[in-house]
Amino acid sequence: MDRFDIIVVGAGMAGASLAARLGGRATVLVIEAEDRPGYHATGRSAAFWTESYGGPRVQPLTAASGRELHALGMLTPRSALTLGRAGEEAEVERFARTYAELGVDVDVLDRAGIEARVPGLRSGWTAGVLEPSTCDIDVAGLHQHYLAAARRNGVDVWCRAGLRAAERTQTGWTLTLTDGRTVSCAILVNAAGAWADPVARLAGVHALGIAPFRRTVAQLAVGRPVPADLPLVLDLGETFYFKPEHGRLWLSPHDETPSQPCDAAPEELDVALAIDRFEKVVDWPVERVEHRWAGLRAFAPDRLPVYGFDPADPAFFWFAGQGGFGIQTAPAAAELGARLLLGDAGGDLDPAPYAPDRFVTA
Ligand SMILES: Cc1cc2nc3c(=O)[nH]c(=O)nc-3n(C[C@H](O)[C@H](O)[C@H](O)COP(=O)(O)OP(=O)(O)OC[C@H]3O[C@@H](n4cnc5c(N)ncnc54)[C@H](O)[C@@H]3O)c2cc1C
Repeated sequence: MDRFDIIVVGAGMAGASLAARLGGRATVLVIEAEDRPGYHATGRSAAFWTESYGGPRVQPLTAASGRELHALGMLTPRSALTLGRAGEEAEVERFARTYAELGVDVDVLDRAGIEARVPGLRSGWTAGVLEPSTCDIDVAGLHQHYLAAARRNGVDVWCRAGLRAAERTQTGWTLTLTDGRTVSCAILVNAAGAWADPVARLAGVHALGIAPFRRTVAQLAVGRPVPADLPLVLDLGETFYFKPEHGRLWLSPHDETPSQPCDAAPEELDVALAIDRFEKVVDWPVERVEHRWAGLRAFAPDRLPVYGFDPADPAFFWFAGQGGFGIQTAPAAAELGARLLLGDAGGDLDPAPYAPDRFVTA
């Protein structure tokens, strides 16, 4: 039976980025249930990096990740514009102030300012917050970069190798995989995305309540040229976002429907809702829906990610709950996760807000 220091469950962005950091420092195996890495949430994202997304306590992870993503050439400038309706001017100011205090570059725009950036903007939208630093992320490129770095550093990645059973031993774990193989390790890392709680239960570890929610995206052809420099357009009320993609638009109704962990598929109703909301934002005629998809975003109860050793089992490490920001936070999260796993001192990020022991009740 093969033995490793660390076995990571899941080869999405979380598992791949962490493995890239661990390779060369420990013997590491990544096991992935699907035929190929990135089939679930990682392969279905809207591919943006924006510091206000996920809230103020996620922003430090996003900001720290931005430096590495820029250095790797994985970001393309986009900018983001968060719109407010008439009567929401105070919230627009509050939103801008919250992120300005964190050091995010933000500008409050009036009606003329938002209209200049979103041609055809309907009346009713009166102000907005521009984030010039927002970028598009090359998600596939980043994921491949991490997988390649991991392999170069000696990490094994096995696909079609789902975790079927995990038995706790004196020295760690003995795992049975869906392909029939048995492997052992000292530390088991849970980077299973929407399946984080089921994986914990398989290992006899108390689940934390990490819940998957479906998010839908539709690719639209519209009856007017889409400006290539259109920002990512969102609203304060979180009811839609859209952005250009190769002359088309990617549009989401910002849905968040509770789901079982599964191969998520879009519902017609969510696509129709997205278009209905879009038509209330701009006067652009929707010609057709070219493509639609959905994926699962997995959130802990407080909507912050969970990085750290399980409070009741020091051989079980959580690397889960990446919600809607798991791509844009991947570099900093992996750095923090590797630091905690390897017992390295230092580092800029405070792990306390993300520690699993925050869910322990006295
Ligand atoms: C529509 C949509 C838009 C998004 N847009 C953005 C965005 O613009 N920017 C951003 O930063 N984030 C975005 N996200 C969020 C981002 O995609 C996720 O946070 C991120 O992909 C999570 O990565 P992960 O590796 O944790 O999960 P996943 O990519 O789901 O990987 C988990 C892996 O674990 C595997 N697994 C599960 N159980 C087992 C088992 N028992 N044994 C072995 N393997 C197992 C699964 O097969 C899967 O491959 C979006 C998500 C969605 C759905």
